[in-house]
Amino acid sequence: MIAAALAMVSSAASAQTYPARPITLLVPFAAGGPTDTVARMTAQSMSKLLGQTIVVENATGAGGTIATARAARAEPDGYTLLIHHIGISTAATLYRKLPYDTKTAFAPIGLVTNAPMTIIARADLPPNNLAELITYIKANGDKMTFGNAGLGAASHLCGMLFMTAIDKQVLTVPYKGNAPVMNDLIAKQIDLTCDQTTNTTGPIASKLVKSYATTTKTRLASMPDLPTADEAGLKGFEVGAWHGLYAPKGTPDDVVRKLSKTLQEALRDPDLVKRFNEINTEPVAQDEATPEALKVKLLSEVDRWKPIIEAAGQFAD
Ligand code: ASP
Repeated sequence: MIAAALAMVSSAASAQTYPARPITLLVPFAAGGPTDTVARMTAQSMSKLLGQTIVVENATGAGGTIATARAARAEPDGYTLLIHHIGISTAATLYRKLPYDTKTAFAPIGLVTNAPMTIIARADLPPNNLAELITYIKANGDKMTFGNAGLGAASHLCGMLFMTAIDKQVLTVPYKGNAPVMNDLIAKQIDLTCDQTTNTTGPIASKLVKSYATTTKTRLASMPDLPTADEAGLKGFEVGAWHGLYAPKGTPDDVVRKLSKTLQEALRDPDLVKRFNEINTEPVAQDEATPEALKVKLLSEVDRWKPIIEAAGQFAD
């Protein structure tokens, strides 16, 4: 009883004084890419509210699992956090061995954003619509390249689903994030990718890349001419990236609650909402930026992707 009482006192005290020093936010992908952009924008708003610096650290590699492993073994004191996307749930099946248990290693803080994805190519790729692209890949796919942010990234998942749907494999080129993928696509060093609108809205608008479809159920208001993959012939093709904010398991509940409340407030910051809107990235509703909602999402997404990934049969050891 005394121990329990002391734990409660110390937890309350830690939430009152927290954060007393800068917080490190681990980002699993390269600077300048979609996850990094979501992380930096959110961190900026949260840091204003917390009155403390949030240092964003890009801990890249192995499709995001390096940063995830670091966060899982970090001190559970609220000073090391992780932002990750849908890939945290797909990596649970894609990687045969992970040094953490995806379902239990974290204290979820809340969902952050939803971001649609787009199937895009280098600006001079000949096909002019998705049907032509599929025909072109079937004929030339053996000589083509598909850039992604590593096994376990959203771009990997989207590419894997796309290749399965058209029944043709294209050589994938893994990068440490979609920022370098985009650079090489614009430089015409690779042929294709599937990337979040967070990263593609600008290059599509300025025609630095060619766009073929969104991976959403309905067209995006800001890109009314771009069909959905479903409309353009890939029936039922739908995938999007959602982001979540995590602390290591064992982080005091009061600290997690304080972070969740701060996240909810940050996501209503008009400046942040406007900046997210400009890149077609949707902040989640207040009741989704909660530990409960992220926990449900994480567990259900691990279970949802498991059979799909197992059927596609691509694993990492
Ligand atoms: N989120 C991207 C992807 O999974 C990677 C990145 O953020 O750079 O494809």
